[in-house]
Amino acid sequence: MKIPEVVKIGAYDYKVVEVEDLQLDGKSSLGVCDRETNIIQLKKGMKPKKEKEVFIHECLHAIEDSYGIDLGEKRVNLLALAIMALISDNKLRF
Ligand SMILES: [Zn+2]
Repeated sequence: MKIPEVVKIGAYDYKVVEVEDLQLDGKSSLGVCDRETNIIQLKKGMKPKKEKEVFIHECLHAIEDSYGIDLGEKRVNLLALAIMALISDNKLRF
């Protein structure tokens, strides 16, 4: 799976950008999903597997917003790991 420059989630196109020093609420972060600007930010320099996991994590936050689902941080973390495993264990490319 290649991280796309734009990902469509529900009715919205989210731009995906890499950021050198990523902060959320004053704390260092690996990923941020801004639901107002529809931008997913990923911290630059992550290992490919981690970057994919963080990308899926942030997409799940966008899915929460687009579909009105309240998963919460813990479930988003678990689902991101589960989806990563689903993709890699089955070598899915679609
Ligand atoms: Zn999160």
